[in-house]
Amino acid sequence: MSESRFDLTGRLVLVTGASRGIGRTLAAGLVASGASVILNARDAGALGSAAQQLRSDVPGARVFTAAFDVTDGDAVADAVRSLESEHGPIHGLVNNAGVQHRVPLLDLDIADWDRVLRTNLTSAFLVGREVARGMVTRGDGAIVNICSIQSDLARPSIAPYTAAKGGLRNLTRAMTAEWASSGVRINGIAPGYFQTEMTRGLVEDPDFDRWVRGRTPAGRWGDPDDLVGAAVFFLSDASRFVTGQVLFVDGGMSVVV
Ligand code: NDP
Repeated sequence: MSESRFDLTGRLVLVTGASRGIGRTLAAGLVASGASVILNARDAGALGSAAQQLRSDVPGARVFTAAFDVTDGDAVADAVRSLESEHGPIHGLVNNAGVQHRVPLLDLDIADWDRVLRTNLTSAFLVGREVARGMVTRGDGAIVNICSIQSDLARPSIAPYTAAKGGLRNLTRAMTAEWASSGVRINGIAPGYFQTEMTRGLVEDPDFDRWVRGRTPAGRWGDPDDLVGAAVFFLSDASRFVTGQVLFVDGGMSVVV
């Protein structure tokens, strides 16, 4: 296959939760493949710094920012409308924003359950729906939902996250059922354990660190850069007949006991 099938030149991609961690690294990887990117998160200051860093790392890169809360339906609709009128059609979306909340199920408050579900699952519906309006009309677009190894597997203390990520896997299928005939492809990436702000407490816990290394056939934590290839694949013509799939990028963790 020609390498050009992975080229994203001329594509505009919105990446949610892109001020740090996985989203920020994915945005950098997409820029390196030729895409223009819109970085989203709530903290405008952190977003500005991430965008500035990206522009200085890749001279000439087209990097925009849009601070909004992905759980706020009105804010999402306003942002997508104004981004498309300012920068043109959004060709790709990475639904990456997410939060974790670790507490035993018996001690879990409904407010925390709701917050985790809204941030990890409802957000993908809200942002996906607004961006897909244009994609469906134009007959072209690609959406990548950042799922998790917890889309399939559970662990104690993270029930709402597990429920949300499992839902996101099936939302990927539901979006495919409705939008694939209009030329929109929707796939998921399910990372294993990756070193980011979200997992800092786990990385710094020697017992957990040992558990991850032992439980992962590849013998290490994931580095966010390990996810870039999968994102470029799903957003590019290389995957033009692939939709509704979830690719586990987990060093083999999900296939062994
Ligand atoms: P981080 O905590 O490092 O980054 C989360 C990002 O999401 C930040 O940019 C944050 O910015 C943004 N965000 C959070 N809430 C909202 C919101 N309501 N609206 C807009 N932006 C928001 O997390 P990771 O990089 O580790 O995780 C990224 C994704 O990958 C998540 O969906 C996570 O579940 C998933 N994942 C991570 C794994 C890991 O091991 N790290 C494993 C499997 C999946 P701000 O707070 O300013 O809004």
